[in-house]
Amino acid sequence: MDFRDTPEEAAFRAQVRAVIEEHLPKGLAGTDLGFGGEGEVPEERRPLLQQWRKVLMDRGWIATHWPKEYGGAGMTPGEQFIFNEEMAEHRAPTFGGMGVQMIGPILILYGSDEQKQEHLPKITSGEVTWCQGYSEPGAGSDLASLQTRAVRDGDEYVINGQKIWSSGAHRADWMFLLARTDPDAPKHRGISMLLLDMKTPGITIQPLINMAGEHGFNQEYFDNVRVPVKNRVGEENRGWYLGATLLDFERSNIGASIGLRHTVNDLVRFAREASRSGSVPVRLTANLKAELAERTIEADIVKLFAYRIISMQKRGLVPNYEASMAKLFRSEAQQRLAQTGMKLINLYGNAVAGRYAALRGRISTMYMTSVAATIAAGTSEIQRNVIATRGLGLPRG
Ligand SMILES: Cc1cc2nc3c(=O)[nH]c(=O)nc-3n(C[C@H](O)[C@H](O)[C@H](O)COP(=O)(O)OP(=O)(O)OC[C@H]3O[C@@H](n4cnc5c(N)ncnc54)[C@H](O)[C@@H]3O)c2cc1C
Repeated sequence: MDFRDTPEEAAFRAQVRAVIEEHLPKGLAGTDLGFGGEGEVPEERRPLLQQWRKVLMDRGWIATHWPKEYGGAGMTPGEQFIFNEEMAEHRAPTFGGMGVQMIGPILILYGSDEQKQEHLPKITSGEVTWCQGYSEPGAGSDLASLQTRAVRDGDEYVINGQKIWSSGAHRADWMFLLARTDPDAPKHRGISMLLLDMKTPGITIQPLINMAGEHGFNQEYFDNVRVPVKNRVGEENRGWYLGATLLDFERSNIGASIGLRHTVNDLVRFAREASRSGSVPVRLTANLKAELAERTIEADIVKLFAYRIISMQKRGLVPNYEASMAKLFRSEAQQRLAQTGMKLINLYGNAVAGRYAALRGRISTMYMTSVAATIAAGTSEIQRNVIATRGLGLPRG
C-alpha cells in the first residue's frame, strides 16, 4: 500500500491543517467532551470551546460525513479520514457525539420531514445533546432480548422498563431508544425506535460512577412515559433494522490510534526526563524499556489497521470482520499501554490529581477507564466471534 497522499489529498490536508493551526484556541488542545457534550467542560473554558465549535460549524465540519443539504460537509470517507487524522494529531476537540454519529444519519435516511426539520439543525449547531438507550440489564451483547415495552395508546406510546449504561444521559436533551412494541413477534421483529425528550415526566435517571470516580454513564427507569407516535422513527416493529444503517462513514477510528501514539510518546518523554533527573520512584528497568518498545509497535499496528479499513472504504467495500479485528486489537492495546504506563510511573500512579500526579493523572485514569474499552461498543468475545465466523468461515457455536 502507498501511504502517501495523492496531490488532491495533500491539498485537502493542508487546508484542514491551516484552519486548525489558525483557529484552534490556545489551551484547548486535549479537551475531551466525551458523550456529555460541553457540559463536561469547566465553565471558564466554555467560551473558547464555543469559539472553536463555530469555526467547525461554519464549514460543516461538525458532521463531516453528512450531506451538505443537512448542514454537513459531504466529505468522502477518504476526506473524513484525513480530517480526523489532522484533528487527532492536533488534539483538537470534536463535537456532536451520538447526534452526529448515530441518530442524525438514521434520521437523514429514515426520519419524517418533521423529524428532520426539528432535530438535524440542532445537531449540527451543537445545541442539543443525544444519548443512546439500547442496553438493558438483561440485554447487552444479545440486544434483541430487550424488554422495555412501548404500548400504543391513541397517538402516544406508553413506555415502561429500564435502560442501563447510557453514556451522557444525565446531560442529554434527547434519547433515541429501542423498545418492544410487539411482544409476540420473533425478537428482532417486535422492536421500534423512538425519540424521547429527556424532560418527559416519568423518567428517573440514576448515575453510575465508574472506578475512576467519573460520572459517564447512567441507568434510567421509565414509569408510564408518554411519547407521541410521531416520534417513532421508521415503521413500527422495524426499529431493529434502523440501527445497522450508516451514511458513508469513515470507520477506521484513526483518531483513537493516534491517541494511543500520543500516549506512548508522552510516556517515553516522561521516562527520559525521569531517568535524567534520577526521579524516584520511577524505575526504568530493562523489562520496562522492552515493554515500551512493544507498546510503540502496537500503536503503529493499530494505525495500520485503520489504514486497512479506510483503504477498503475508498474502494467502495464495507469493512466487516476487519473492523472487529481493529476494534479488538485497539482496545486490548489500550489496556496494555495503561498497564505499562502504571508500571513506569510507579507510585505516582496513585495520584490522579495534584502535584504528584504524573502526566496530570492521565495514565492513572486511563488504567481505570480502559477496563471498559473491551466491553463498550461490542465486547472482545463478540469481536472474536465475528472474526471466527465471518472472517474465518468457522461454524457458529
Ligand atoms: C463505557 C461504556 C459505555 C457504554 N455506553 C452505552 C450507551 O451509551 N448506550 C447503551 O445502550 N449501551 C452502552 N453501553 C453498554 C454496552 O453496549 C454493553 O455493555 C455491551 O454491549 C455488553 O453487554 P453487557 O454489558 O450486557 O454484557 P453481556 O452481553 O451480558 O456479556 C457478559 C459477558 O459474556 C460475554 N458474552 C456474551 N455473549 C457472548 C457470546 N455470544 N459469545 C461469547 N461471549 C459472550 C461477553 O463478552 C462478556 O464477557 C456502554 C458500555 C460501556 C462499558
